[in-house]
Amino acid sequence: MISYNEASELIREAFNKLILETKTVSLENALHRTLAKDIISDINLPPFDNSAVDGYGIIFDQNMTELKIIGEISAGNYKEFKLIESGAVKIMTGAKIPGDVTAIIPIEDVAVEGDKIKLLPNVKFHAGMNIRKMGSDIKENEIAVNKRTFLKPRHLAAVASCGKSELHVYKKLKFALLATGDELIAVNEKPQNDKIRISNTYSLMGEILENHQTVADYGFVKDDKSQIKEKVKQMLDSDADIILTTGGVSVGEYDYLKTIFLELGVAQIFWRAYIKPGKPAYFGVHKKNDKMKLIFGLPGNPVSSQVNFKVYIKENIRRLYGMNPTETVKAELINDLRKKDKKRHFMKGLLTKVNDKYYVTSTISQSSGNLVEMSKANCLIIVKEEQLNPKKGEFVECIPM
Ligand code: AMP
Ligand code: MG
Repeated sequence: MISYNEASELIREAFNKLILETKTVSLENALHRTLAKDIISDINLPPFDNSAVDGYGIIFDQNMTELKIIGEISAGNYKEFKLIESGAVKIMTGAKIPGDVTAIIPIEDVAVEGDKIKLLPNVKFHAGMNIRKMGSDIKENEIAVNKRTFLKPRHLAAVASCGKSELHVYKKLKFALLATGDELIAVNEKPQNDKIRISNTYSLMGEILENHQTVADYGFVKDDKSQIKEKVKQMLDSDADIILTTGGVSVGEYDYLKTIFLELGVAQIFWRAYIKPGKPAYFGVHKKNDKMKLIFGLPGNPVSSQVNFKVYIKENIRRLYGMNPTETVKAELINDLRKKDKKRHFMKGLLTKVNDKYYVTSTISQSSGNLVEMSKANCLIIVKEEQLNPKKGEFVECIPM
């Protein structure tokens, strides 16, 4: 069985081979999309020398104390003025400044008397003050926003000022999702006897949407080989980039997924990695007419499928789409943890921060079936392979969630 690191590396390599398609979106629809091309400014920004404050434009001289107001320029209403040494143009923030002006004195730093201003004593003035030079933000034909930037509101302003109302972005990854299991019933049904409500579909959809991708839900099917195969075939024939199934991938009598993947031409990359929870996960790739799909057969246990998504899939999406990786934090254990094997464990934990120091407790049940307990956790505690029964006071890495 391969290790967590080996499994992660194989998945990472496969993600890197995905060819992301591109499309054009309007600027209004570009938030949280990822740029597929550099944004190059078609102009200098700012496009003209302008004032950083409301104030008075003057030809600066260290010894001046009093000047005569000769006119006014507001933003967007430029007028040419021929300044003389003793003259001042009242000028508003963002207004273009006449060529002669060498400093803008803020309105707060002068006393106005009729058509005169007096520079307040005890204030320091200097040449060049409060002038925003043309091109000081960016020069024409320079890259303003780089390809693969995940667009946040601040990027949209930069893109807008560069004159781009239509942007080339990567299309979102399309996930196809299928749940399997004889025991599954819909959420709006009440379980009788030995049935359970389907839940994995919703946590996985949530993960996909939270990471700004799209999902097609193929519902759930019974542990019936031909029914599952038919659905998997539909998903393979679809335009999905990534197929996720849950359940039926373990070593049980009715665990058909592996065989079905094989029969439908999926090349297995690995089955089972030495981690807990989520050991039974299957990973393969499917290629047809140059289109590659990644295939994840996730175990049915609700916590396992969530952990598998977080540790195998999420960070790859975030990397490909320019989103910040999830930063792990180092935390001190508040209680002993039970870990007797050399798997990599991802335990449900509760992380708190006290005076800039992180502490983590794990008094929550670690059963991979306890999905409500999972919902109460706010991190996964990573307990590495060689780390056995970590004790209170030891440090562990945690993945916040
Ligand atoms: P399996 O991976 O098929 O052996 O299932 C492992 C456990 O997960 C069993 O207890 C199943 O009842 C449960 N399970 C399977 N699929 C789901 C699902 N979609 N939602 C919630 N629990 C599930
Ligand atoms: Mg099952």
